[in-house]
Amino acid sequence: MTTCDGCSLTDRKFNEHRLCSKPGSRRPQVVLVIYYGIMNPPPILSPVDDQLDALCAALAAASTARDAVSADVAADAAANGVAGVAADVAADVAANGAGREFHRRHPWPAQPLAWCGQRGVFRWSASCHVGGAGWSDADQIRGYLRLGEACLTTAFIITQRTAASTRLAESANHSLRDRLLPDLLAGRAFATVAISQLTTSRRHLAAPVLRARETADGYLFHGFSPWVTGAAFADWIAVGAVLDDGRHLLAAIPANVAGVTVDPPQSLVALEASHTGPVRFENVAVERSWVLAGPSDQVLRTARSGGSGGLQTSALALALASRAIGFLETEAATRGNLQPATASLRREWQAARDQLLEEAGDGATAIQAEVAPGLAGASLAGGSLAGGSPVSRAEALRARVNELALRASQAALVAAKGAGFVAGHPAGRWCREALFFLVWSCPPGVLATHLRDWTDGYS
Ligand SMILES: Cc1cc2nc3c(=O)[nH]c(=O)nc-3n(C[C@H](O)[C@H](O)[C@H](O)COP(=O)(O)OP(=O)(O)OC[C@H]3O[C@@H](n4cnc5c(N)ncnc54)[C@H](O)[C@@H]3O)c2cc1C
Repeated sequence: MTTCDGCSLTDRKFNEHRLCSKPGSRRPQVVLVIYYGIMNPPPILSPVDDQLDALCAALAAASTARDAVSADVAADAAANGVAGVAADVAADVAANGAGREFHRRHPWPAQPLAWCGQRGVFRWSASCHVGGAGWSDADQIRGYLRLGEACLTTAFIITQRTAASTRLAESANHSLRDRLLPDLLAGRAFATVAISQLTTSRRHLAAPVLRARETADGYLFHGFSPWVTGAAFADWIAVGAVLDDGRHLLAAIPANVAGVTVDPPQSLVALEASHTGPVRFENVAVERSWVLAGPSDQVLRTARSGGSGGLQTSALALALASRAIGFLETEAATRGNLQPATASLRREWQAARDQLLEEAGDGATAIQAEVAPGLAGASLAGGSLAGGSPVSRAEALRARVNELALRASQAALVAAKGAGFVAGHPAGRWCREALFFLVWSCPPGVLATHLRDWTDGYS
């Protein structure tokens, strides 16, 4: 067993990760990060628990420290000339492979995830009878709003591992559930999902990109899943595949089983530390005892959360919007001309948050009448048409919060002006992160709503 010096994660499988180099950040945020690690407070019991404030402060500090790694690379470029850095990078890549350079620039947030595990965050969504904390959907949304505002990347990774644990918790395969779930909820294991090929990715192709074929002992999985977050760190992956008769199958596949290859992470516009990339399956023998659901027409339909366009995705978009609006509020305190726009964005944010909580089943929260201008024509009661696609209430809300994340982050850039356009300034990063919500788990109805809103009435 080898322990990575750079990100402190004990790694069993992957050379790339072992080669990770120390970030070497010397920023003051590191002090808070170390302090929080040592203090080791108890689990978070509710979204109003003070411990959630402390965790979020530590996550935000760790996120800033991680950004400083990229800033250090930029500072190198300034000090030594871009050409010099490019040559260094080329030499590094030649010596150690592209993976090492990627890990150096975008370290996996192992420590923030470990804190979340210790504070019980991974138990929020699971019911008490399977060892979870049984938080209500609305309270989970409140928690995600806080985590996402502190560190969007960490919160996003948590949604993917939670999607995997939800599939497991809801599985009729109780022996598998009882074997894998305790470690997952306690943070001793990591799992992720490879399901987009059943929902929002490669759906237009004539043949499924990941197929399953029944054998005497179980199934053979062959093909690839285009987008899998943190696969290189996963103990197992919840993988969806399509049988020849069109039915779907969902299985928990150990990440180190023969035939599974985790490709290097994609170089992304944002959220690179999520280490998202393709995973290939070459005639992987999947035992029947690994099956989570199916075969059936829709193996993902029954799950409580984690579906495309789900409320968690909307919560993270709102969390990003809040971060950007918070920046505007700080600026507006001394710049009167920013105040009307800032106050208007915050009012809109509060109305969207109330609606999100209402959708999550929080009856105490009234839906406010205010509707984002871009969605004035979309029925929030659901069932309306966007470019011919039916839009559910959750999808209409998703389109609304996507819009808000885009506008709030761009308003922050307007306030930050040219300085915000310099690499390393958070306003530029928020703008890039807002784009993520246009592609992550974004169902056709939401995409159609955006295209309609961005074109209707402009010509
Ligand atoms: C950072 C990130 C992390 C993610 N993490 C995960 C994860 O952990 N697990 C998971 O399951 N998913 C994950 N996803 C997947 C995500 O939820 C979406 O499924 C994905 O973004 C869809 O994009 P795509 O390019 O695969 O879509 P596709 O629909 O496959 O589009 C790909 C290309 O195909 C072409 N095309 C599309 N539609 C048509 C059409 N109708 N006709 C002809 N050509 C067409 C276009 O040229 C397009 O660029 C992640 C995505 C991102 C960006």
